[in-house]
Amino acid sequence: MEGILDTEKSVKKKAVAEIRTELCTGCGICVSVCPVSCIDILNTGLNFNGSAHVNRELCTGCNFCAVDCPWEAIVMVNPDGSEKVFDIYSKQVKKMRGYA
Ligand code: SF4
Ligand code: SF4
Repeated sequence: MEGILDTEKSVKKKAVAEIRTELCTGCGICVSVCPVSCIDILNTGLNFNGSAHVNRELCTGCNFCAVDCPWEAIVMVNPDGSEKVFDIYSKQVKKMRGYA
């Protein structure tokens, strides 16, 4: 029980993905790459395809979507509200995928 609670705490300490709706084209690439399926495309009426929406409770902070979004419409936001530095997590994702 204690172990599970510790895990939940550590997840909540991570940055989570946030959509910049004004830049999102609704292309759906983020939906495809999210390993925990916590992104949906909602019909916001802002553009033809709709806009991405992240379930923050499920986001593990893996950074995949923010790296792969072709329109830079996703930022990773730390628990204190600051934005995570893109270059750092971009390098981490490339390494995980075996490109660096
Ligand atoms: S990949 Fe980017 S532009 Fe495409 S739906 Fe996701 S947030 Fe929007
Ligand atoms: S950071 Fe990872 S878990 Fe969170 S929404 Fe993006 S791809 Fe999904």
